[in-house]
Amino acid sequence: MSQFQGLITHWYHQNKRDLPWRITNNPYVIWLSEIILQQTRVEQGLPYFQKFQQHYPNINELASADEQDILNDWQGLGYYSRARNLHKTAKEVVEIYKGVFPSTYNELLKLTGIGPYTAAAIASFAFGEAKAVVDGNVYRVLSRVFDIEEAIDSTQGKKTFELLANELIDKKNPAIYNQAIMEFGALQCVPVNPNCNACPLQFQCLAYQNKTITERPVKSKKTKVRSRYFVYLIEFTANKTIRIEKRKEKGIWQHLYQFPLIEFDSIEEKRAYLNGLKSDFISKEYKHILSHQQLFASFAIVNQRNETSESQLEIALSELSNYPIPRLIDKFLEDHVDRINELLVF
Ligand code: SF4
Repeated sequence: MSQFQGLITHWYHQNKRDLPWRITNNPYVIWLSEIILQQTRVEQGLPYFQKFQQHYPNINELASADEQDILNDWQGLGYYSRARNLHKTAKEVVEIYKGVFPSTYNELLKLTGIGPYTAAAIASFAFGEAKAVVDGNVYRVLSRVFDIEEAIDSTQGKKTFELLANELIDKKNPAIYNQAIMEFGALQCVPVNPNCNACPLQFQCLAYQNKTITERPVKSKKTKVRSRYFVYLIEFTANKTIRIEKRKEKGIWQHLYQFPLIEFDSIEEKRAYLNGLKSDFISKEYKHILSHQQLFASFAIVNQRNETSESQLEIALSELSNYPIPRLIDKFLEDHVDRINELLVF
């Protein structure tokens, strides 16, 4: 066990990346970085982390911020529920804990939006509690080094990995150890083509010896992916403004803005609708992949059809950047902004 700790920690000191959230024990900064980096690569998350630190330098500033500003700052990072939870948690810390983060794993877990992983990260990095973090990187490293066949997405499997991770943690240096095993998974024992030839754990690694690396970690369930068919209508009003609406329903992109949207049950239905639509411009179909959904979206520019409803806003195209919008719409605008501007002028 101590050999495993020693090798991982030694590797970490030689290979770690210098990242701003590693040089602090401020729980707010650590929490911010952890939420931003979930399901996000470090290179992509870093500028967002810097922006959030600048715009919301402490928990009080974040709690009192307008949700729309937070979503705007989050734009492009995806998984917007994280941004909404970030705001909710900040408010809770301010209202219940007077702006001071709880300092133990068990107390942290009581906060909305803080699960076992984030609680362990804050408790160990900020407060030195010996609580193991178990993220995707840790699952992968442990499943390979110990050649574990148990599925990481089963209830029993989760327990097994959590137990093992907490047995392995260096009780004297939990923060360094946790950082080390995550970094090892992110840089060395990567999902595809891990760098086994230059791996300090090669002699301990059972999956390496048993040639089962590509089969680890084991997952039992296949994620069901739902297909959805969208047509966004870009409607110009008589004043040459466009209409947008806020997504109110729960699910993807809640509280973000979009062009009025029609959703179809099948690709055939969507095609039939587009064939009958009077439009100056229909875009190519954009395929947008989310964790459990794949979206097939087209954009049609149309002249004013109906009165603007109460739930819609009429804005100039140039004002759109003041509203948080999904990356999918942003991508379409990047591709077609000239065309839209042209239509606005004539
Ligand atoms: S030997 Fe390969 S699979 Fe095993 S821990 Fe090292 S990098 Fe990962």
